[in-house]
Amino acid sequence: METQYPFTLPPLPYGYDALMPEIDERTLHFHHDKHFQTYVDNLNKLLEANPAYQDWSLERLVRDWAQLPEDIRQGVRNNAGGVYNHDLYFKTLAPGAASEPEGPLADAAARDFGSLQELKSAMKAAALGQFGSGWAWLVTDGDGRLSVRKSANQDTPLPLIPLLPCDVWEHAYYLDYQNRRGDYFEGWWQKVDWPGLSRTFARLAENRPRYPQS
Ligand code: MN
Repeated sequence: METQYPFTLPPLPYGYDALMPEIDERTLHFHHDKHFQTYVDNLNKLLEANPAYQDWSLERLVRDWAQLPEDIRQGVRNNAGGVYNHDLYFKTLAPGAASEPEGPLADAAARDFGSLQELKSAMKAAALGQFGSGWAWLVTDGDGRLSVRKSANQDTPLPLIPLLPCDVWEHAYYLDYQNRRGDYFEGWWQKVDWPGLSRTFARLAENRPRYPQS
């Protein structure tokens, strides 16, 4: 993903049929090629007309949209969020058998939730409890603590560090699961790329500033 304007759609990191049967080909075509592309196009259009913000990074756009001029504020909030959230959504899923957290992420999950099963329950409660369109998130903070959040529309959990997003917009599941958001969550959970997330989390831990040893 480019870090600033003009943004382009990153390719789906696996085949369109790679997440079947939990998430099928038609859903990935619509979700990635149509919905995600539309957020990219809309964000570029907003910035094309406002060159002063073309050097803002994607992360700055999603974090600091409130500082933008009023006529583009809500548009950037929605569309930069849509780009940021979908980029992470597709990258945190993977083909193959269900996996589990490893290393520091496994330790943090046990410490902060009790078990992976309890982390899953918290995440599912957030996914089902988000009224209307939005997201459920596994996030971490500057101290490496894990927690679960939800957000409406295309809002992000920043400045908390998003690790794993579950898209609960109907476009993410309606073709596969119709109105059964809980069944979608269960299918989505099977495809979470825990080895990749475990590497991301370990890298964050290595880069965390530490107090000097006395
Ligand atoms: Mn979506």
